[in-house]
Amino acid sequence: MNFFIKALAGSGLLKKNLDYSMMRASMVVIFLFFGYQKWFNYEAQTLIPFISNGPLLSWMYPVFGIKGATYFLGVAEWLFGALLFAGFWNKKLGILGALGSVVSFIGTLTIIPFMPDGWAPSAGGFPAMQGNVAFLAKDLVLLAASFYLLKQDVARASLLAEKSDRFWPDKHPDPSKAYPRLIDVRWKHFRVGMEGKAMVQSEVAKGRGLGLSELAPRVVQSEIRAMTMESDRVGGVNLAQGVCDTEVPAVVAEAAIAAIHDGHNIYTRLDGIARLRRAIAEKTERMQGLVVDPDREVVVASGATGAFHAVAMALFDPGDEVLLFEPFYGYHVGTLRSLRAVPVAVELEMGTWALDLERVRAAITPKTRAMVVNTPSNPAGKVFTREELEGLAEIARERDLFILTDEIYEHFLYGDAKHISPAALDGMRERTIVMSGYSKTFSVTGWRIGYVIADAKWIGAIGYFHDLLYVCAPTPFQHGVATGIEKLGRTFYAGLAMDHETKREMLVAALRDAGMTPYVPDGSYYILASTAGLEHVLGDGTAAQRSRTLLAKTGVAAVAGSAFFRAGKGEDLLRFCFAKKDEDLADACQRLRELR
Ligand code: PLP
Repeated sequence: MNFFIKALAGSGLLKKNLDYSMMRASMVVIFLFFGYQKWFNYEAQTLIPFISNGPLLSWMYPVFGIKGATYFLGVAEWLFGALLFAGFWNKKLGILGALGSVVSFIGTLTIIPFMPDGWAPSAGGFPAMQGNVAFLAKDLVLLAASFYLLKQDVARASLLAEKSDRFWPDKHPDPSKAYPRLIDVRWKHFRVGMEGKAMVQSEVAKGRGLGLSELAPRVVQSEIRAMTMESDRVGGVNLAQGVCDTEVPAVVAEAAIAAIHDGHNIYTRLDGIARLRRAIAEKTERMQGLVVDPDREVVVASGATGAFHAVAMALFDPGDEVLLFEPFYGYHVGTLRSLRAVPVAVELEMGTWALDLERVRAAITPKTRAMVVNTPSNPAGKVFTREELEGLAEIARERDLFILTDEIYEHFLYGDAKHISPAALDGMRERTIVMSGYSKTFSVTGWRIGYVIADAKWIGAIGYFHDLLYVCAPTPFQHGVATGIEKLGRTFYAGLAMDHETKREMLVAALRDAGMTPYVPDGSYYILASTAGLEHVLGDGTAAQRSRTLLAKTGVAAVAGSAFFRAGKGEDLLRFCFAKKDEDLADACQRLRELR
C-alpha cells in the first residue's frame, strides 16, 4: 500500500488532475482487491468468476478446473489493475486496462442468460443471485470509471493540444479545425512527440502567468522613506531618516577623491581591499580586544545593510525563526522576510528598554536559529549592558543559536554607556556575526561601506552572497574609509560622541517643551518620544497620522513609532533623529517648541 501511495504522490498527474487520478487510483484498488480475493479465496468464489468474466474464462473450466480458472481470473484482474496503474505513465496502457474491464463487463452480460442453474451455485454460502448482482455491480462501477477516465483524458489532451499550438503554430494553425473531434485531439496529442510533450507540460505547469511573488504585494514602503519624501515635498526639516548630514571628516573625503584620481575605480576583491580589511581588524582589536584575521574573517560590505542581507542569505533557510528585540529596526525584519525567514519579536520593557531573559527563552522554538542584537539600538538608543549580553550569550550557547549583532552606532555613546560586542564575550566568537559600517561614523550614508566580521567557517558563504548581490563595495570609498580608520584616532571618536550628546540634549529639551515625553537614549542618534497628552494638537489617530500632522503644523518630519513595533503598538510614539547639522537641528527645535 505504501508503494501505491508513494507512486500516486509522485505522479505529476495527481497534482494536476486530482479527480482524474483519484478515479484511476480507486479503479486500481478495486481491481487489485478483487484480484487478491480471487487468488487467495478461490474456494469461497468458486463459479462466480465465470459469471463475471464469462467469455474470457468459462472455457478454462473444463481445461484447468475450477481452481486453475480462478487463479487465471485473479491474474487477469491483476493485469487489468496493473495496466490501469501503468496509465499514470503511459496512457495507452491505461486505456488497455480500461478496455479489459469493458470486455469483461460485456462478457458478463452475454453469459448470464446462458448459464445453467447449476452454474451459479451458492458458493461459500453466497446465494447465486446476490453473488451475480454483487459482481455485476462491481463491473458496472469499473465500466463507468473507464468512461469517466477516457473523458478526462480527452479533456486534458485537448488542453495540452491547445497549449501546444503556442509552440507549433504552423503545425496546428487552428486547433478547432485541426481536431474537430475530441478523440482526434487526443490522438494528435500523442503524436506531438516526447520533446513537445515536455515543453507543453512545463507550459501547463507554469500556468500562473505574469505577476508578482506571493510576498511582494504585502510589502509596504518604509515609513522612514515615506516621511522623507513627504518632508522634501513640503520643504520641512527632516528628522525622520537617519541620513546623517553632518560633516564628512576631511581626510576621509580627500582620500576618496584621491582614490578616484589614482584610478581605483574598478571592482575590488569580493571581500574588499586588503588595506581596509586590515584597518577594520586592527580597530576591532584596539577597541573590543577582539583578534580578527583580516584575510579570513572580514568581508567589506555594501553598508551594514548589505552585510545583514548577505549574512542572512548565508545562514538562514526559509521558515527559520530569528529573534529580534522590539522596538526593532525595520530593515532587519524586512530583510529576513524577503528571504522567507521568520522574524520573531521579543518585547523590551517599554520606556526603560530593559531585557527580560525569560521572554527570550519563551520565544525560542525548535525552529529558532539566531537572535539579532542591535547595540546601540535604533530606534530606542538602548545600549545592551554586559550583564544582558552575558544572559543572551548563555541562552545562545544553551540553545545553539547564532547572535547577529548590528553595531553601526558603536561610536555614538552618551554618559557612562559603553559599547560591548557580543563577539568579545567568552566563548562567543564562533557563533557571533558582527556587522557594522562607516555610514554613521564618517557621515557617509551614501557611500555604502560596511563590513562583516565572522568566523572563517561562515565568512566564505557570506562573501559569496555579498558578491552575488553587490559584487563589491564601491572602490574609491573603500580607500576613503580605510584612510579615515587609519588616520582618525581616539579624539575623533570621543569628539563624535560629545557632539552628538550635545545634539541629544538640544532635541530632548525641545521635545519636552513641545509637550512630548522623550525617552532619553544612551546611544545611537534617535529619540523615541511619546505624544500622549498632545491629542488636542496632533489628534488621537495613529502614529503615522500624528507624524503627518506634526509635519503640517511645524515642518518637522519624524517617523511613526509604530514602524518599530508589531501591529497595534507604538501608536503614540514618534522617532526623531538628531544627527543633523547644528543650525538645522536648532531650526527644528524652534519649530517643535511652537507646537503647543
Ligand atoms: N543598521 C541600523 C540599526 C541602522 O539604523 C541603519 C541605518 O539607519 C543601518 C544599519 C544602515 O547602515 P548602512 O548605511 O551601513 O547600510
